[in-house]
Amino acid sequence: MGIKLLDYDIFSGTKEDLIKEVFSKEKVNIVSGNPEILNLGLNNKKLFDFFTSDKSIIIPDGIGTIIASKIVKNPIQEKLAGIEIMDEIIKVCNSENKGIYLLGASEEVLEECKKELKEKYKNLNIVGSHNGYFEMSNCTHITKEIEEKKPYAIFVAMGAPRQEEFIIKNMESLPCSIYMGVGGSFDVISGKISRAPKWMIDCGLEWLYRTLKNPSRIKRLGVIPKFLITTMKNR
Ligand code: UDP
Repeated sequence: MGIKLLDYDIFSGTKEDLIKEVFSKEKVNIVSGNPEILNLGLNNKKLFDFFTSDKSIIIPDGIGTIIASKIVKNPIQEKLAGIEIMDEIIKVCNSENKGIYLLGASEEVLEECKKELKEKYKNLNIVGSHNGYFEMSNCTHITKEIEEKKPYAIFVAMGAPRQEEFIIKNMESLPCSIYMGVGGSFDVISGKISRAPKWMIDCGLEWLYRTLKNPSRIKRLGVIPKFLITTMKNR
């Protein structure tokens, strides 16, 4: 259930289809396929190979990816935002008593994020967590904890490509079934930063809202037209 976009397979089913597929797999990595992440993959073979391997499912996250799917005349109907998919996975973990692990963000954000999630999902089993500020080459205390606590799903919120690096390095040896890099999602869940209003999300203007809230993101916006031009050249 996918479309081809610049040698990537992008998932094109509904949210329900995705959740069914994710929970049917023994081990899976979910990639929030926005132009920024897909572009990183185009410039980094290790990332590209991981994103296009059978270990990963790339979801169409971001208006840029939806527009690109129209350019290749294979339009994706439903945008699947990473933060919403994370929420759906947590909902299932809550109702099926499957443990989750949260890795990333600052200690303060992480604590607030856990509090919010426990408030929303009363039975949620957060088996462990760690902030995202550690040395990748020296984190056996973290991987040991994950091995011991055996969470079903791990959400890694350290921004790209740091979060992908962690997943690539540890996915095989860790016992989790679901791996997902979720960027700044812990900041949103904790309430530190707000998500765009629904009408802006529906109009595909979430990028504008995030840039207005945090103007330093403006330099990251250039990647959207760049990605669309690459798509046009390669269609
Ligand atoms: N972060 C982290 N470790 C680092 C650098 C960043 O845990 O070494 C966290 C940071 O605290 C924030 C998130 O990664 O919570 C940044 O995500 P970003 O805003 O890049 O995400 P996106 O724009 O992809 O949602």
